[in-house]
Amino acid sequence: MKIFKVILFWIVSCTWGILMALFGVLVSLSLLLSGHKPKIFHYLVYFEVGENWGGFEAGPFFVTNKVAELTIKQHEAGHGLQNIMLGPFMPFLICIPSAIRYWYRKIIVKTGRKKASDLPPYDGIWFEGWATQLGKKHFG
Ligand SMILES: [Zn+2]
Repeated sequence: MKIFKVILFWIVSCTWGILMALFGVLVSLSLLLSGHKPKIFHYLVYFEVGENWGGFEAGPFFVTNKVAELTIKQHEAGHGLQNIMLGPFMPFLICIPSAIRYWYRKIIVKTGRKKASDLPPYDGIWFEGWATQLGKKHFG
């Protein structure tokens, strides 16, 4: 049954979810070429790069920092499931807003306009909370 899930995940990721999957292939190729080793988290492929940041999802692939906790991997894998549900809408509904929000929060803290502790919870916005929920449920 699990193998069926894995095959279905990859087929849907590479068809309906092709926009983010193509982005993931480009990211993966450039990471492979720069000497990073791919790893497997359940049935997604991921890379570990740098420190002091979170991670991002790119279809059936994701990238995290080198010391990412399980919760970050689950969250990014949760975005991978959102991709097979939302397909071509994924970049516009979730990925781009999520990236803008991530950097906005980072800049606000870096420039001293707010303390990190004064920001609303990271999962306070629907798409992040949903990714975390999916990740915990399916990749626990
Ligand atoms: Zn996220």
